[in-house]
Amino acid sequence: MNQSVFIACENVVKIYRVADLEVVALQGLDLRVRAGEMLALVGPSGSGKSTLMNILGGLDVPTAGRVRVGEYNLLDMTRRDQVRYRRHMVGFVWQQTARNLLPYLTALENVELPMALAGFPIRERSERAAHLLDRVGLADRMKHRPDRLSGGEQQRVAIAVGMANRPALLLADEPTGEVDSHSAEQIFQALRALNEEFGVTVIIVTHDMAVSTRVDRVVGLRDGRTSTEILRRRDGDRAISEEEYAILDRAGRLQLPEAYIDTLAMEDRVLLRLDEDHVQVWPEHTAREDGDYDETN
Ligand code: ADP
Repeated sequence: MNQSVFIACENVVKIYRVADLEVVALQGLDLRVRAGEMLALVGPSGSGKSTLMNILGGLDVPTAGRVRVGEYNLLDMTRRDQVRYRRHMVGFVWQQTARNLLPYLTALENVELPMALAGFPIRERSERAAHLLDRVGLADRMKHRPDRLSGGEQQRVAIAVGMANRPALLLADEPTGEVDSHSAEQIFQALRALNEEFGVTVIIVTHDMAVSTRVDRVVGLRDGRTSTEILRRRDGDRAISEEEYAILDRAGRLQLPEAYIDTLAMEDRVLLRLDEDHVQVWPEHTAREDGDYDETN
């Protein structure tokens, strides 16, 4: 496999069993992420975003498929691997600020805590904690307890906590869900700063409409699969283009955006035609009217 692929999800299926019912949360999801990418996951409620984050975080195991993160095969981990993976490979930032921070510790102590649990020497802990808090723009808030910080500041402390044990992957589930737009901007800046300094791969679940201007890649989920992607090509700090892509899976399947299907009233069958450098997709009724469609076929 290509070494630059850091996360490889192939045909991932996750089925939850609730009493006699089966809920298919992921149905054949494919996703590849290169080391050091910063990407956002978007999609309607129920599309499988949290399920995917929990799997990537090692908190849940897929029902079928393949998931590799770095050297770890997430479908085949011993308990020891799991502990090592969660402690050293991933950092988490949750939407609910209360879940990220201990209320009776200062910002600095909150960031030091995971390092203490992982056995880092005391000096290294406080130096790194101070450095991380500085990088997320909180150099002057280190001695404050969470209740003296705004919601946005608490989330930036949480980001520093998530980075404490030098994870290769930082997962943030709706980190801006409970803050105003100015704070959201600062949270994205903090994530970007850490992504650039440490090369940590960052995945953010978000409903933030402005997200595509804040990350390089936006992956859309629909019905438990990746459906579209928006990619921005950068020229230094200047974004030079933004384009929406559909995902072609390994079986050659492709999901058209719902808006396209509605606009052209496509259903059931479409006509494909291969041109020299692209493929045309025609609604059956238009193709037939244009005489492009041979009904004997
Ligand atoms: P999203 O984060 O995009 O809102 P989820 O991953 O939370 O989507 O959910 C995907 C689907 O899986 C939904 O239909 C949801 O009801 C179901 N689901 C998620 N977690 C569980 C669970 N622990 N038990 C049963 N069903 C679940």
